[in-house]
Amino acid sequence: MIPFNKPAVAGLEEHYIKEAIERGHLSGDGHFTKMCSKWLEEHFLAEKVLLTTSCTHALEMAAILADIREGDEVILPSYTFVSTANAFALRGAKIIFVDIRPDTMNMDEKLIEQAITARTRAIVPVHYAGVACEMDAIMEIANRYNLVVIEDAAQGVISKYKGKYLGTIGHLGCYSFHETKNYNCGEGGALVINDARFIERAEIIREKGTNRARFFRGQVDKYSWVDIGSSYLPSELNAAFLYAQFENAERINSYRLDCWYTYFNGLKPLEDEEKIVLPFIPEHIDHNAHMFYLKTSNLEERTSLIAYLKSKGIQTVFHYIPLHSSQAGLEFGEMIGRDNYTTIESERLLRLPLYYNITLEEINIVINEIVNYYNFM
Ligand SMILES: *Cc1c(COP(=O)(O)O)cnc(C)c1O
Repeated sequence: MIPFNKPAVAGLEEHYIKEAIERGHLSGDGHFTKMCSKWLEEHFLAEKVLLTTSCTHALEMAAILADIREGDEVILPSYTFVSTANAFALRGAKIIFVDIRPDTMNMDEKLIEQAITARTRAIVPVHYAGVACEMDAIMEIANRYNLVVIEDAAQGVISKYKGKYLGTIGHLGCYSFHETKNYNCGEGGALVINDARFIERAEIIREKGTNRARFFRGQVDKYSWVDIGSSYLPSELNAAFLYAQFENAERINSYRLDCWYTYFNGLKPLEDEEKIVLPFIPEHIDHNAHMFYLKTSNLEERTSLIAYLKSKGIQTVFHYIPLHSSQAGLEFGEMIGRDNYTTIESERLLRLPLYYNITLEEINIVINEIVNYYNFM
């Protein structure tokens, strides 16, 4: 049996969790939380990084920081995980969905400007599969209309766009350390703050709306309730686990890339025969092999391929029922422009097993079964 995912374990996770217990500080913002945020700030050249309990929560913090209110509009792709939209719907915003590009499955940057109105406040590009959106074009539009850009880089940790790490290009960036992502601690995330005017308020929102961070730095002599907020900081146990992953980030990244290119090269003949479509990586992008997917001709073929692979002990999955046609999407949002690709391309996409602890032999088994399916079924 080859499962779709197994959470990565890099080596020293248990050792660091034990160390956290010995240090006697298990709530947030202890030794390991500081080590993790420092690691992210130094490696990604980020102004400020705050560890959070999830990417969902980092997005919620970003929505509060961007001061999104009732009736404001936020532009994002319909082809994404629910949290991208939910964070803004929670603040009373109307979600404006735009179509994707079929080549990268990312929001089509050419469709953003036509979706802007006087009520638009933010753009939320999602770097699907760890492949960057066209950030130059997006930042240019945002600057022209004075909009906040919040990158949903849940899948894009360690990927780059024109040499810059994803999450550090917009005003705010959000990472996920969920067990299905490249670096994980079960459930976790981070908010990257690239615009210094947001730093102090971000610390307050993350600490239940209190100025506790300033109190710990000795900048005020008591802390109290100063703003809205919630409990967005993870426990030291999670941070200890995560730090072990960061220490091995290069190893994890290069192994995932090996897996990714094994799939790509192994399945390329099927693409050349026009039986399937493989992912496209634009030239100016360094991706992190977050995901390997292929596209079948249509939904029916995908359903049949999933069943075939399952019968061979291989688990594959698809995702994202387009948000604009979902129950909540219809209530809280609207698609501007046509759905040329979102629905049709999402119905063709199939994700293959890819994780740190998969072997190249297992990947070759998956490749061979897909080749068998197309050549002999
Ligand atoms: C995984 C994911 C999220 C949510 O991350 P959590 O850490 O599970 O909250 C948000 N957006 C995208 C695009 C994701 O892939």
